[in-house]
Amino acid sequence: MKKLIAGNWKMNGSLAANEVLLTELAQGLTSQPSCDVAVCVPAPYLAQVQALKAAQAALSCVEVGAQDVSAHASGAYTGELGAGMLKDLGCCYVIVGHSERRQYHGETDLLVAEKAKAALAAGVTPIVCIGETLTEREAGRTEEVVKRQLAAVIHGNGHCISEIVLAYEPVWAIGTGKTASPEEAQAVHAVLRAQLKAATDQSARVKILYGGSMNAVNAASLLAQPDIDGGLIGGASLKAQDFLKIIAAAQV
Ligand code: PEP
Repeated sequence: MKKLIAGNWKMNGSLAANEVLLTELAQGLTSQPSCDVAVCVPAPYLAQVQALKAAQAALSCVEVGAQDVSAHASGAYTGELGAGMLKDLGCCYVIVGHSERRQYHGETDLLVAEKAKAALAAGVTPIVCIGETLTEREAGRTEEVVKRQLAAVIHGNGHCISEIVLAYEPVWAIGTGKTASPEEAQAVHAVLRAQLKAATDQSARVKILYGGSMNAVNAASLLAQPDIDGGLIGGASLKAQDFLKIIAAAQV
């Protein structure tokens, strides 16, 4: 399966900084990568990033994504972003259920499943994030937690579940510099793969990304694991040279 390297810029960037980052990225993408590449950018910059992409041929391989979506299609939901709007702006992906949204915005498993459904209905691929906290890991509850989070998305999306991208992001590894070891990550990915297999005969189509302090140094060993189909990269996606090295590590 083609790997996917997706950057999550989080709430970072500016018109000027985005242009510098994407120009450096374009300069480094001298040949077409054999993996899929995406950048999930703050919503106000989606149009700018699309324009920069249109202006630089080397960026044609970089898909654009958003970082959140409403569970509702349209209506009186001030401040929300409809999946159809993201589609209009050329988004191929949208992150749903990132731990920062679960933690700071009270997003529940049910809401995350509904957001994934709204994205799929509009033809935008949801990158569904799941992962345990440090307390849950230390209590030996990792498997139970990630299975519960994935079960909600499976339940809410039926046979469409094969259309999602899944991202295992242990909360304790996000932005902390602590990475799950390749073996720890692979063990969880194998559990998730089995759960997807039980849910759909199309499970082989689902990419399972690892996220959590993936960087230019550790990417290759993580991406070498049999059930790690790519990475969701926060901090390192803001540095063009690091992001390029991760893309290079994902070449098959
Ligand atoms: C993320 O935000 O999805 C993430 C994985 O962040 P970082 O790479 O900075 O840990």
